[in-house]
Amino acid sequence: MDLTLGDDLRAFVDASPSPSHAAAEIARRLVAGGFRELAETDVWDLSPGDAVFTVRGASVVAVRVGSEPVPEAGLRIIGAHTDSPTFKVRPRFDVRQAGYRLVGVEPYGGGLWHTWLDRELTVAGRLALRGGTTVLAKLPGAPLRLPSLAIHLDRSVREGLTLDPQRHLQPVWGSDLGTEPGLLQALAAEAGVSAADVVGHDLVLADTQPAARAGADGSWIAAPRLDDLACCHSGLLALLGADGARHTQVLVCNDHEEVGSGSASGARGSFLEDVISRLAGSEPQAFARTIAASTLVSADMAHAVHPTRYDRHEPAHQPLMGGGPVLKLNANQAYATDAVSGGWFTERCEAAGVPVQHFVTRADLPCGSTIGPLTATRLGLSTVDVGAPQLAMHSARELASAADVPLMVSAFASCLQER
Ligand SMILES: [Zn+2]
Repeated sequence: MDLTLGDDLRAFVDASPSPSHAAAEIARRLVAGGFRELAETDVWDLSPGDAVFTVRGASVVAVRVGSEPVPEAGLRIIGAHTDSPTFKVRPRFDVRQAGYRLVGVEPYGGGLWHTWLDRELTVAGRLALRGGTTVLAKLPGAPLRLPSLAIHLDRSVREGLTLDPQRHLQPVWGSDLGTEPGLLQALAAEAGVSAADVVGHDLVLADTQPAARAGADGSWIAAPRLDDLACCHSGLLALLGADGARHTQVLVCNDHEEVGSGSASGARGSFLEDVISRLAGSEPQAFARTIAASTLVSADMAHAVHPTRYDRHEPAHQPLMGGGPVLKLNANQAYATDAVSGGWFTERCEAAGVPVQHFVTRADLPCGSTIGPLTATRLGLSTVDVGAPQLAMHSARELASAADVPLMVSAFASCLQER
């Protein structure tokens, strides 16, 4: 099996310990692929064939302008998210207790928090500097840890582990006796700036173990943050590899999906809409016509059937890792897929020779959601929810298959290049 694209996904995840790093890595690869960065404060004057992108916070929108006017041919959009469940560093984070130095953090999103125990952790994100600029920063090595409590000190753990995020999930990073510099000093030094110039931060905890090949034949990928960096990666490769088309091709990678998408850079904010309105032009009906001619592929990871808890899947809908893209449907619109958008995606996969799997949640379980219904609700875009199958979603260490990476890339490329 060709693991090249799976290995590239591992490199992408390793380069993206925080949403800010993910956005920067996406931008770096776009520039390497010939895309030009535009500021949202600029006047955009685009021509057919132009390849551009813009960044808002830890979100990115990339565009390859099609050969036909946008309101005529519409957009083919792949959407994913740059964030994952983690812990966000508090403003006043320097906590001293029991002879230790801790970093005060707050949970971000719905993580499987017990999986963060006893792992090699660091802090990564962006620092805001005087004058309004930002810089990426990450502590080298694995300086932080959330140690388990020894079983001898609490036998009740056999009945189930209960973790109070306020009291139990504050990472330790040194002895209170130590003379190490403060966290911001260390991060500023690492970023090559003066700590005195740091006026704000968006910092999260990150697992430092590099993504690895796993499984009997090495074709699985064990890694943090596969949800949803794997779909950001597949969408990005599809866009970079696609030929121009008559319609305009768009990749949107949003921050803040794991906390409901309600921010200026999240899917409920105006970022994508603002870019689309620039692409559509100023004719009175151009925006509405563009939306009506466009399709959004909301790409977010899907649940592969679990090897021992397969009863938690609907019996007739049990996606397998390595089996290709998963089309996600929900009668109550937790996913935005309908007959037309799902049928369109299935046709695109057929055209690319890519198999399609299906996911619905059991009728007696609640359903997760994605940026799909939010974006569809905000913009009225025809939307299909899809994802690559994975295990252990929202664990500190997730599992997916390298075999799905080329299948996802081919499916997305077929969507972007639809004739
Ligand atoms: Zn996700």
